[in-house]
Amino acid sequence: MNAFRAIAGVLLAFGMVSCQSPSGGAGRSAYGDRPGPKGFNAVVIDAGHGGKDSGAHVRGLMEKHLALDISKRLRAALTPGFKVVQLRSDDRFIELDERVRLASRYGDAVLVSIHLNYGNRSTSGPETFYWRTDSYSLARRVQLQLSAVIPNESGNAGLVRRRLRLTRNPTIPCILVECGYLTNAREASLIASAGYRERLAEAIARAIRDQAAHGDSGMGVLPRPIYAPPSRAGDARD
Ligand SMILES: [Zn+2]
Repeated sequence: MNAFRAIAGVLLAFGMVSCQSPSGGAGRSAYGDRPGPKGFNAVVIDAGHGGKDSGAHVRGLMEKHLALDISKRLRAALTPGFKVVQLRSDDRFIELDERVRLASRYGDAVLVSIHLNYGNRSTSGPETFYWRTDSYSLARRVQLQLSAVIPNESGNAGLVRRRLRLTRNPTIPCILVECGYLTNAREASLIASAGYRERLAEAIARAIRDQAAHGDSGMGVLPRPIYAPPSRAGDARD
């Protein structure tokens, strides 16, 4: 009985999302089963964490502050070419589902969530998370551009397909970018410098401009869509 209820709940969740699909068609576009965006003119930037949620806190470096700083630099790097929306522009807490809802208000846009990573002391380098077919090329472009700026990579996961609330649930293409490991002393000291954060922001901006100009061109075969229900709290690290 409980198993049946759980399955019914999942099916219900599928149905609800389909109904909310902006395409009005079969509804599956809400899962990102479409080519990557080209020619979009708006970028929604999500500075990870904020307020009561500091994110990673290592040696006096706080993820929420660094993510906001990089987000502001990214905004500057993208204007005037794009309309840029920042989901938070100060030190405030916003629930993840609320971030999804806010980002989904914008059409013809992409969502880029900015974070800093933590883990093993020897691990360093960028990681970029995507889930949907329509977000793959942007994620790959960001990962490539960041790798060109970040001097050492060690043990990092690189480009990662993972179903998170911010990589699965918005109605627009969406990626989550980990700009480096605060737990790696060498990388942390770079991230502590404003000039380096500027270079990170410019690298992400280059990737976004390339995606807007070229769409999926040059990015190879797109990953097949995976039809999975919306991500919820507790599904995975996010
Ligand atoms: Zn984070």
